[in-house]
Amino acid sequence: RPLTEADLVKEHRICVCVRKRPLNKKEATVKDFDVITIPNKDIVMVHEPKQKVDLTRYLENQTFRFDYTFDDSTTNEMVYSFTARPLVETIFEKGMATCFAYGQTGSGKTHTMGGDFSGKSQDCSKGIYALAAQDVFLMQKKPYYKKLDLQVYATFFEIYSGKVYDLLNQKTKLRVLEDGKQQVQVVGLQECEVKCMEDVLKLIEMGNSCRTSGQTSANAHSSRSHAVFQIILRRNGKIHGKFSLIDLAGNERGVDTLSADRQTRLEGAEINKSLLALKECIRALGRNKPHTPFRASKLTQVLRDSFIGENSRTCMIATISPGMASCENTLNTLRYANRVKEL
Ligand code: ADP
Ligand code: MG
Repeated sequence: RPLTEADLVKEHRICVCVRKRPLNKKEATVKDFDVITIPNKDIVMVHEPKQKVDLTRYLENQTFRFDYTFDDSTTNEMVYSFTARPLVETIFEKGMATCFAYGQTGSGKTHTMGGDFSGKSQDCSKGIYALAAQDVFLMQKKPYYKKLDLQVYATFFEIYSGKVYDLLNQKTKLRVLEDGKQQVQVVGLQECEVKCMEDVLKLIEMGNSCRTSGQTSANAHSSRSHAVFQIILRRNGKIHGKFSLIDLAGNERGVDTLSADRQTRLEGAEINKSLLALKECIRALGRNKPHTPFRASKLTQVLRDSFIGENSRTCMIATISPGMASCENTLNTLRYANRVKEL
């Protein structure tokens, strides 16, 4: 029986949230201003200044509803506890979980997922990668799961222009193979066993610095690539559950189509394609749709096994910038996020 929307809500298979970041100094300096309000925990409003032909000004207000909305005072821990945290149990119950950060470059995807390690402050800077790992270790020690004797592993890779690079192995380019049973494998991907938080933080830092090495700021590589951090539970060597945490490429790709540079246009097209395929794959989650476009992009192909199966759950955190200057991108982000949860 195909699942109905009511089933999906009841089972919390798909959770879609929005997180607004604070207006930063740079925006304040150029007199950008906040056009987003979050009046309660599931509503976000965009107040776009407009002008009529007779030059009178007005605000065009648009309202969106999500499972949760987080204002600019929300911490990573809070966001985590409503989004990824409930999915930790899923992987202990032999399920597959995914958590995506989606939004324009500069809206807070990496801050949310990877955390900010730049300031060298330790605890307050943890992102969802680290917070999820922390709960995985706690859960592993609970008597009920301890009996299962599960081992924890991590992988960290990047998908750039349709190709996979291992962030735990000096950006080695990896091949993706699909066997006759549509099992997808990233050949040679480093899977590191992790036994404590120190191990995990080391890997995150290593992957992050690998990801950002050699970047020029303007057209930064990291804004044009998807980063995938996975926590894998194994029992007697076999996969028991898997949690994929994804820091997606920036979704502001409209400009790329106008670029004079062919490579930029191709990359932009590839990103658009993968984000469209992702939306369709999430929407099809657990509904056994025959025409789910897993193969339409490397991202969805690699995550295929996380979108199928009875016990797959996902959450999307749409990150938005507060400024008027970002309004168009913000509206695009909110519309996309809305579509993800609609039937
Ligand atoms: P993205 O990965 O989407 O391009 P970043 O996570 O790099 O964006 O965020 C851009 C800047 O904004 C960074 O300097 C980051 O520290 C800051 N930032 C993002 N989200 C928040 C937040 N919720 N609170 C405080 N600072 C934030
Ligand atoms: Mg980023």
